[in-house]
Amino acid sequence: MLPFKLIYSDDYFLPIGAHVFPAEKYRRIRDRLISTGVATAKNFLEPQLASDEDILLVHTPEYVRKLKTGTLSPREEMELEVPFSPELVRAFWLAAGGSILAARQALTDRVAFNIGGGFHHAFPDHGEGFCMINDVAVAIRRMQRDDKIRTAMTADCDVHQGNGTAAIFAGTRTESVPLPSTSASMLSPTAAKTKMRGAHAGDVFTISLHQHNNYPQYKPPSSIDVDLPDGVGDDDYLAWLDNALSSGLRQFEPDLLCYIAGADPYREDQLGGLDLSIEGLKKRDELVFRVARARDIPVMVSYAGGYARDIEDTVTIHSNTVIAAKEVFCVLS
Ligand SMILES: [Zn+2]
Repeated sequence: MLPFKLIYSDDYFLPIGAHVFPAEKYRRIRDRLISTGVATAKNFLEPQLASDEDILLVHTPEYVRKLKTGTLSPREEMELEVPFSPELVRAFWLAAGGSILAARQALTDRVAFNIGGGFHHAFPDHGEGFCMINDVAVAIRRMQRDDKIRTAMTADCDVHQGNGTAAIFAGTRTESVPLPSTSASMLSPTAAKTKMRGAHAGDVFTISLHQHNNYPQYKPPSSIDVDLPDGVGDDDYLAWLDNALSSGLRQFEPDLLCYIAGADPYREDQLGGLDLSIEGLKKRDELVFRVARARDIPVMVSYAGGYARDIEDTVTIHSNTVIAAKEVFCVLS
């Protein structure tokens, strides 16, 4: 039995046909967690659809109208890179409802998972890269509107930069300054090429750790961007993540941490070019949870991408994130 909740619905399935995005991964993660005894059915909560009002906390009325009336232009539909349907719209509204519920649960249980969501390429006025609605941004704005939190931090560890999230929370920014990379000299030559950029002002602090040479081509600035070169492995990745989280938390005190736990930094990923192992990805999860626990910051997890050649690996990586939370939040509490 887990001391936290997993938000899940069979309707998270994205009706997109044959596609590199494994739409059935959510159900498989749920099944794996139950069949391996990590979780029981009682750990799961069913989300409700986000309301249009919730979605409008982040997205423009014009964009929401187009989605609800099925009137995206061919170009807008192409940018989304998944086939539009009313059922797809419903699945994204549900993912946003799931992230809202996960955020709320995190505030009471210290950690909660949306076994879905993490659609970080959705902008206020358009969707792209398989992402229609930025569920994490909607959850943050809803928690703020309900006076449950004032500030939040996103820690986006998907292999692709969180461009939508960065744009949504851009706010007013100060001049970008190079951050101290205390451990850079101790890292390998590969990591020495890594660039860390930072600038911040606003109520949501965004961190993105991603492969520089990958989608999206234009990367709007996050509060901290760690632009990793191709082929970065476990040790360098973990050092840069540690560095980014420490830098972020020196500058900013979040009431909620939103961890976007993409599985695509994995070395066998079809859309990624980093070299993390399954064990390294679990260490990544543990690091995020240990940092949050040490500072008593509630964590809401969402899953974002994962395109391993073998879908079972993607399911293992995402399931391990739950196991990592269980280990960090149970054993030590
Ligand atoms: Zn991704």
